[in-house]
Amino acid sequence: MERVTTDLQTSSLSRTEARTDAPTTAPAPSSTPRPPARPERSAVIDLAAIRHNVTHLKRLAAPAALMAVVKADAYGHGAVPVARAALEAGADALGVAHVTEAMALRAAGIDAPLLAWLHTVDTDFAAAVEHDVELAVSGWELEPIAQAAAAAGRTARIHLKVDTGLGRNGFTMQTWPAAVRAAATAQGRGDVVVVGIMTHLGAADDPGAAETEEQLTVFERAVQQAREAGLDPSVRHVANTPGTIDAANLLDPARMLNDMVRVGIGLYGISPFEDRTAEDLGLIPAMTLRSTVSNVKEVPAGQGVSYGFRYRTPEATTLALVPLGYADGVPRIGTGGPVHINGVTYAEVGRVAMDQIVVDLGEPGLATDTERNPLGAEAVLFGADDNPSVREWSRAAQTIDYEIVTRISQRVPREHVDTGRDAAQAPGSSGNAAETPEAWNLTLHPTTAQQTQEIARNLAAHLRTGDLLVLTGELGAGKTTFTQGLGAGLGVREGIISPTFVLARRHPNDAEGPNPGGPALVHVDAYRLATAAEVDDIDLEETLPTAVTVVEWGLGKVEHLSDSRLEITIDRGVGAKEEGQAPDLASVLADLEAETDDGEDEPRTVTIRGIGPRWVEAAPRDLL
Ligand SMILES: *Cc1c(COP(=O)(O)O)cnc(C)c1O
Repeated sequence: MERVTTDLQTSSLSRTEARTDAPTTAPAPSSTPRPPARPERSAVIDLAAIRHNVTHLKRLAAPAALMAVVKADAYGHGAVPVARAALEAGADALGVAHVTEAMALRAAGIDAPLLAWLHTVDTDFAAAVEHDVELAVSGWELEPIAQAAAAAGRTARIHLKVDTGLGRNGFTMQTWPAAVRAAATAQGRGDVVVVGIMTHLGAADDPGAAETEEQLTVFERAVQQAREAGLDPSVRHVANTPGTIDAANLLDPARMLNDMVRVGIGLYGISPFEDRTAEDLGLIPAMTLRSTVSNVKEVPAGQGVSYGFRYRTPEATTLALVPLGYADGVPRIGTGGPVHINGVTYAEVGRVAMDQIVVDLGEPGLATDTERNPLGAEAVLFGADDNPSVREWSRAAQTIDYEIVTRISQRVPREHVDTGRDAAQAPGSSGNAAETPEAWNLTLHPTTAQQTQEIARNLAAHLRTGDLLVLTGELGAGKTTFTQGLGAGLGVREGIISPTFVLARRHPNDAEGPNPGGPALVHVDAYRLATAAEVDDIDLEETLPTAVTVVEWGLGKVEHLSDSRLEITIDRGVGAKEEGQAPDLASVLADLEAETDDGEDEPRTVTIRGIGPRWVEAAPRDLL
């Protein structure tokens, strides 16, 4: 693990206050530079995990842009380093609650698009306008923001926030028509420009909640009314982390994803869902809360532990003290939360005190055992991999994971490290893909959906059991259409649909069909599988020799499964999209519709690359 920065002063909110008690290492007595000692306690933040999570969530949100929400000191992870890592990984913008938080990011030299959405009458709008901080407007703010902009001779970039049901900030639908008129007037004067319209969901963590559907409907009405008032908000944004992750389960994901998503908790590798872990979602927890065992001692049976003697040792045992308490943000009601020491996870016993917690190691004699005495051993309350999860602490404390990480206090220095684990999992880095030679490559230009399907149908005639196809193409490019063509050519049973809802679906050969006895088709969506390791979890290795396997979004994840593969890329035709410009929602919607249509006029470029020994023979020439 390479340590890149030790950020002892962690608050971007209150740079002046944060210094007071943060440093925990004594200054070196001489001028000889010494490597800094490890902090006695720290929240270690893996920036590679942040980057991995951004990349993963951005893929789920595509083609929508991604705003990385770094409010509350990046949920306790350190706003400046997290913001930098998120931007490096492709985040398009940053979001915070307060203008003060935005100003701290600007002061650190971060000049990415930045939005602040929660203001008071004391908020310094002039500073925000001066430093290009975009501002959400929920009501009264419009006038003071317009005035601040006019005074500075600038145009404030604003996002109108509509309350679609959450009952917090945002214009109500009753006040919305007047609001959009007033905003249009201020825009006409050049004081503001309405770049976006936003709302916030109240139950996105409850998949299928009727309220979410209602909120989306109200939002669409609000956007429509804004347009009628002459506004042209190009950035519509609704989804938080759960909305972004669950969009794939909606009939029309674009209604949720819109032009941009605002993701917070997912960046930090934490699941917003009660019934799914971070791992289930392909996220990597970024924060490890650690210290070391600071005292070890032998006690008899019946020893009371911590205030109120809520715990008494059932037998003679060894107790270990860990110097993290509620002043560090460990919830006082979190008795029983996990602590990982020397490969074993123990339950904390007795009251959580201000500065410390106690672990019952469950056997006597460890304090005097020179080999096994854990004094000085690393004690981890939560972290990635084999460590306990934040979820176990939030359960113990009857709260949500958001609160556990966000409340880790300023007494705990943040150590930012970079494990590089995202690079190890990046597309193209797994297996021996790079060494496998490309045998041939074909480029075809179908002009309709039927032609795309025809190519696939013809390709199927060249396929046999054990073949691996990796299918790439953006949303709406026609991956499902293509796979349907393969299915028809192979003569498998009907019913090939977008595999979004399942990881892998097997279509057996249809004995009554055109190709009885032919291979089965296994259709896989690797979109939600972040790594090659996760692909291994669904046992493709076992099914691969039994069928023709088509993996959507599989680049960089499945190459290790076989020495040969076909890589098929479907691109929208020339002119469908301008170079370097994100596709707008309307064109994506049109494409999605076209996929289910008969699809006249769908110019596409289909590239097929034969890779590995299976494909050394000549390319099939009869595809179109
Ligand atoms: C905090 C916040 C988010 C991020 O929510 P997550 O559930 O953490 O992804 C998005 N939008 C607004 C307005 C927020 O306040």
